[in-house]
Amino acid sequence: MKLIIRGLQLSAACQMVCRMNPILLGIRRATALAIVMASTAVPLHAQTSPAERPFRAGAAAANITPWMGVSINGNMTDHKGASVHDQLHARAIVLDDGQTRLAIVVADSCMIYRETFDAAKKLVRERTGLPAENILMSATHTHSGPASASVFQSDANPEYQHFLTLRLADAVQQAIANLAPAQIGWGVGSEPRHVSNRRWRMKPGVLIQDVWGNTNDVVKMNPKPGSPELLEPAGPTDPEVPVLAVQSPDGKPIALLANYSMHYVGGVPGGTYSADYFGAFCDRIQELLGADRQDPPFVALMSNGTSGDCNCMNFREAPKPEAAFVKIRRVANDLADDALGVWRKIQWHDRVELKSAQKEIQLAVRKASADELARARALLSTAKKTNGQYGGWGPEVYAREWLLLDEFPDRVPLVIQTFKIGELGIAAIPCEVFVEIGLEIKKHSPLKPSFTIELANGYNGYLPTPAQHKLGGYETWRARSSYLEVDAATKIFDTVMELFARVK
Ligand SMILES: [Zn+2]
Repeated sequence: MKLIIRGLQLSAACQMVCRMNPILLGIRRATALAIVMASTAVPLHAQTSPAERPFRAGAAAANITPWMGVSINGNMTDHKGASVHDQLHARAIVLDDGQTRLAIVVADSCMIYRETFDAAKKLVRERTGLPAENILMSATHTHSGPASASVFQSDANPEYQHFLTLRLADAVQQAIANLAPAQIGWGVGSEPRHVSNRRWRMKPGVLIQDVWGNTNDVVKMNPKPGSPELLEPAGPTDPEVPVLAVQSPDGKPIALLANYSMHYVGGVPGGTYSADYFGAFCDRIQELLGADRQDPPFVALMSNGTSGDCNCMNFREAPKPEAAFVKIRRVANDLADDALGVWRKIQWHDRVELKSAQKEIQLAVRKASADELARARALLSTAKKTNGQYGGWGPEVYAREWLLLDEFPDRVPLVIQTFKIGELGIAAIPCEVFVEIGLEIKKHSPLKPSFTIELANGYNGYLPTPAQHKLGGYETWRARSSYLEVDAATKIFDTVMELFARVK
């Protein structure tokens, strides 16, 4: 309360602006866009020192559900959207310590290109002055969302990409409009029941074939659960559930950002749009916090951690039949219970320091050789399609990927970013990051706790470690879903550490 009072005891000039500006008084009007512009203009506060300004937070969700007929990506074959199970959202949280403003957006999408994120950030900058390096935007990796990136046999829909750009920007702008005095806190829960490493070593003598029929792979992705041929998982898991929370000074929930290193639940029928467990978690935690129908609305965000090699299948046992949305809800409810436990123990701060750092790095693209390209062309010259598509896991799909990947530049730029929120660190990486990398980031970050949001600020395919590259398996097979140089993980990890050192 002390901070609010202090926040209102601004200079005479600022008080006058505040009287005209309901946002600065904490009376929030999401539709007052003109006022948003004013609230972000630094000169309004020119006569107040940062320490005198209240810490503020705002949150908003923009609906990004597409119309029917847009391709759904995340599978080897394409499906067109024909029904909506649950609405898709771009969910935003904005924090403001009086000096620095940070925005985090989590969008219900399988993956989103950097071009789309950059265009949305440009709009935010034009409308509110918030620079791109202070905005972290990510995709959840639902496999039942509209294609805003082209992978395997699903092509990005340009009309939807444009719509998504506008809505990503709107989410941030609306969250800024909702800025109000806030307390902030964080904590880390744990939910080990829904994380498994999906890459397995098989017992000696078991044949592991790649999509071309080669037998060089040492691991198999998603082997048959309960199979007697299973030896052991080829990597660890990360059961942590980091939570960042903001509430009003009188204890009304404003937003909760969670993070979990689990790919997706899936099993959603082809042609159905759904936000998977990410959206179901947001609904459930809102219900548990008693934050339904607030004004402005409470917003929850579930970001994807480092789940390139981890999903929620229990490979040790043959699965019991369970409908997709029943399982999605079960996983989401368990995670929400855990996040609620963290919320209840949070130590609230009246203010924390906010910082951001980002860097662009260039990484080489793993392209097919001339011989391999000739082989791919020969294969496709006689390949047959059914309903306009190649068979799901056949070599034709990969032959096509090799040819499409050959059109990529030899090196690609990636944005790596870190945020400091008090003592909490967040790393943002534009890949499907292997869990080992996330665990190393948590261990070596100077900020404790730290976590990673993957598929952030762009999309550059899987990010296995060099050691996992040697084991082979689906996530290493060259395609638009996996094309960065073998040492990419090392270079990205070093960059994350460099950026954490800059913000710490
Ligand atoms: Zn995936």
